Amino acid sequence: MFNKILLAYDGSKAANKALEKAVQLVRLTEGAELRVVHAFDFPRIYIGEGLAPIPASVNKEYYDLANQTSEEVKNRITQSGVEATVDVIQGSPAEVILDYAAEHGSDVIIIGSRGLGGIREFVLGSVSHNVVQHAQIPVLVVK
Ligand code: ATP
Ligand code: MG
Ligand code: MG
Repeated sequence: MFNKILLAYDGSKAANKALEKAVQLVRLTEGAELRVVHAFDFPRIYIGEGLAPIPASVNKEYYDLANQTSEEVKNRITQSGVEATVDVIQGSPAEVILDYAAEHGSDVIIIGSRGLGGIREFVLGSVSHNVVQHAQIPVLVVK
């Protein structure tokens, strides 16, 4: 039923639970493919109307962290004996995930309910909320 599976990964506990479900799902279908997308963005600091310049060393930290997250997810998936393509893309997470799914013809998005963000008041984080709200395909939200 699901041949092109997309996992949205941010390294969080829920994203790792989503990873387990993605691995189980891809195993169910012969020839199914698993893709993973991790979005990252450079920090922005506004001063009045304008953007403050961010030191290259700070941007590099964000970039390195994103690549570290992608290595981590690759290793976890490989350890479970499944192949996956992992992409790191700059941009706003929900937008990146939705565009990526459309571009690759994914037929399901697997996503954690919460991520690395702080506010526990809501059931869904803003990324999972936006993805569920705007996706044209089924979304599996893993708690
Ligand atoms: P918020 O970010 O709104 O403060 P949160 O961090 O708790 O809340 P979300 O960011 O919505 O929650 O995370 C929910 C799920 O969305 C994660 O488990 C992960 O699957 C996915 N996700 C979040 N951020 C990213 C990202 N940068 N790249 C890929 N997937 C992401
Ligand atoms: Mg988040
Ligand atoms: Mg956040």
